[in-house]
Amino acid sequence: MLFTHRCTTCDRTQLIFPSQAHGVRSTDDGAVELTFTCWCGAEQGHRMAGLTASA
Ligand SMILES: [Zn+2]
Repeated sequence: MLFTHRCTTCDRTQLIFPSQAHGVRSTDDGAVELTFTCWCGAEQGHRMAGLTASA
């Protein structure tokens, strides 16, 4: 799964590879984010469209 993400730290739109991802987390409003490390080294969260946390 490849996707692009606008990094909040380096402010660039980067192509993110599965090998960069290291987990998922739920946000305060019930969405699910994939967590990964940007090319610049910053921890980022990418919201997954269509996924919501059930709990
Ligand atoms: Zn970055």
